[in-house]
Amino acid sequence: MAPRRRHVRTPAAHLAPPAPQRPELASAVPALILMEREVEQQFRPRMIAALQEKVDAQAQALRDAPPPRCPHCDRAMKYKGTRCISWQTRYGWLKAFFRRFRCPLCGQESRPLLEALGVEPGQVAGSLARLLALLGAVVPYELAARLAGLFFSVQVNAMSVWRAVQRLGEAAAQYDDALSAYHADGRSQAPCASEAPAAVVVAVDGCALGMQVRPKRRRRSSPAQQLPPLPALEGGQFREVKTGVLLLPSERVEPLAGRRSVVRRFLVTCLGDADTVFGHLWARLCQLGWYGPNTVVVIVGDGAEWIWKRATLFVNRCEILDFWHAVEHAWQFARLQFGEGAAQADKWVHRIAQDLRAGKVVAVIERLRGLSASTPQAQVELDALIRYYSENRHRMRYDEYLRLGYGIGSGCVESAHKQVVHARMRQAGMRWSERGARRLLALRLLLLNNQWDQLDRLAMVRVAAEDRPPVPTAA
Ligand SMILES: [Zn+2]
Repeated sequence: MAPRRRHVRTPAAHLAPPAPQRPELASAVPALILMEREVEQQFRPRMIAALQEKVDAQAQALRDAPPPRCPHCDRAMKYKGTRCISWQTRYGWLKAFFRRFRCPLCGQESRPLLEALGVEPGQVAGSLARLLALLGAVVPYELAARLAGLFFSVQVNAMSVWRAVQRLGEAAAQYDDALSAYHADGRSQAPCASEAPAAVVVAVDGCALGMQVRPKRRRRSSPAQQLPPLPALEGGQFREVKTGVLLLPSERVEPLAGRRSVVRRFLVTCLGDADTVFGHLWARLCQLGWYGPNTVVVIVGDGAEWIWKRATLFVNRCEILDFWHAVEHAWQFARLQFGEGAAQADKWVHRIAQDLRAGKVVAVIERLRGLSASTPQAQVELDALIRYYSENRHRMRYDEYLRLGYGIGSGCVESAHKQVVHARMRQAGMRWSERGARRLLALRLLLLNNQWDQLDRLAMVRVAAEDRPPVPTAA
């Protein structure tokens, strides 16, 4: 059959195209959507009623139980009265009467029903708190509150999301810190290393985060008073978020030629302290069972002093200077020597990169020493380059690292920064309090490490009043 020919009519050049029609929305919402909403409206009251029934049953069971014993001194606690509380869940508000107890000796308080339910008075609790924290860990709080309305048909404000993030983020951060402290202690159980891998790659790097200028919240003296605008952010108001990536070289795959990826990777992160991030790395290695007496820890870094200083923590290690940082350093000199955008610079750097990749770092340094710089400025850069390569030459045996499958770049940690920090915490105008950043980082880490379900087994931590966000716009 002959193919059908399509006649394309070209409009006559002298005719103006017809005026555009105003677009119209469909006059009705599709029936399925209406049905879904109807069913939800119909069953929501039944769900909250069923939930309330279960809570009442639990309260009744506890009412008949003997007074709890003090967790500190094991004394029987004293009954201090009954109170009523309400809290918000996925299906609506719940109410319960709970009994309070107090230890006569040490003052320890107990509210058995609330402890069993995992509820704090007047708060969002249960799975809704976890879902709000999840939204708040991914998008700014205002937007998270709107999404909660669209996703779960619950009315919450940005403060509720913020509170869920603080309370659960604090729980996650405390758990991380406790794990680090546990694994750092010599008395703790040594990591089970029977199946430890031959090599594990640890890539570490830092990136800047804008911090709040004032340690305390500004308060209005009257509701009408306008607060003056915040001062501009300066260099000193940045802190470094340090992030580490752990992966097994044996799990590197190449789904497409030249596009490497890893099956699994685990992230650790912290605000500021270099010892802390290495403590987290060590704890994570232990938790994963990735460290044994014969495991080589391959540390990839950009040449920052704090990384190599702590690398000595691992006796059996292989230090690698990130290949792209090494090449970028050569570029800095080449631009000055040959001029910005010169073809010769391109060729020169290409050859350096080739030789470095082939493991000829000593020959490269020799060649650089024999070079004469074109300008005094280029000379300064050349000296710096020679020094950089000389100091790091034992970390630049790239041929060997490639042969062993260790990899030569820290690209994985740079992409980790984007996921951990940039995607949520470095949007326009965002600045963070120390506590707020620490908590949000802990939650983002759970999410990115695919361990969000851990949050179900972490009790929400009460957050002090001074932790309130300093400005309503605080992300
Ligand atoms: Zn006691």
